[in-house]
Amino acid sequence: METKRHIVIVTGAGSGIGRAASLRLSQAGSKIVAVDFNRTTGEQTVELIREQGGEGVFVQADVSKSEDVERYVNIAVETYGQIDAFFNNAGVLQKFSMLTEIDLTEFDRVMDVNVRGVFLGLKHVLKVMEKQGYGSIINTASTAGIRAEHSIAVYSASKHAVVGLTKAAALEYVRKGIRVNAICPGGVDTALTQGVPAMMQESGYVPEEFPNMRIGRFADPGELAEMVVFLASDKSSYMTGSIIAVDGGLTL
Ligand code: NAP
Repeated sequence: METKRHIVIVTGAGSGIGRAASLRLSQAGSKIVAVDFNRTTGEQTVELIREQGGEGVFVQADVSKSEDVERYVNIAVETYGQIDAFFNNAGVLQKFSMLTEIDLTEFDRVMDVNVRGVFLGLKHVLKVMEKQGYGSIINTASTAGIRAEHSIAVYSASKHAVVGLTKAAALEYVRKGIRVNAICPGGVDTALTQGVPAMMQESGYVPEEFPNMRIGRFADPGELAEMVVFLASDKSSYMTGSIIAVDGGLTL
């Protein structure tokens, strides 16, 4: 990774885990195609990459829209000629409530980004990687993709789907030089989790491990980014189809 060009697409690059991963990947020598719905924060991430001496481009895209996904993949190939790794990370959290209280609008909103978005990213990036004969993909699932989490049934279902897509893609592309793994964060200190305490109080259910997340604190996004850098690199060359908890013991 230090000597040859290494191009990585990161979705959800404007915030949280996606921004931290973009910055760490850049420090490790990768050029970043930073994708986000939010133009302001996405462009800020690319500014931060440049400030630390790295290189990247921003692409404004909604990962749940097929034409947007095709566009960010095309821009990556037109700009850099290859995609070495893909951090398929953008996602949204569900409003906390019992399953029977979840309306279809909320179901569709969560599934559109977390499942359709991850699926579309896989579909279009795998086509490029198959032609290249190499590539590493890291999907962001969640501890809610390994076990059920109370009051977020649709989010849990969406992240179980990410685990399923990861395993299926890993199986289909294992002999084509492409590795596909998933990370499962527990509680990470990002914009996504800022509203959680209030939502839990409002929903009337607070899990016993909250707010200390078992290990005693939330993760810093950089602690997830370290795993992403490892999975994006050849150092993880024998890993594919792995569902990796980075959760401070939350799923123990
Ligand atoms: P975050 O700080 O909210 O960052 C997510 C980014 O994705 C935001 O910049 C957001 O843009 C962007 N985004 C949302 N919908 C999008 C779409 N349709 N198209 C393109 N970009 C979109 O959240 P995070 O905590 O870093 O979460 C990243 C991933 O980790 C998600 O998949 C999440 O489910 C997963 N995860 C997080 C935790 C945690 O504790 N934080 C735990 C388990 C799993 P906006 O600024 O417009 O919202």
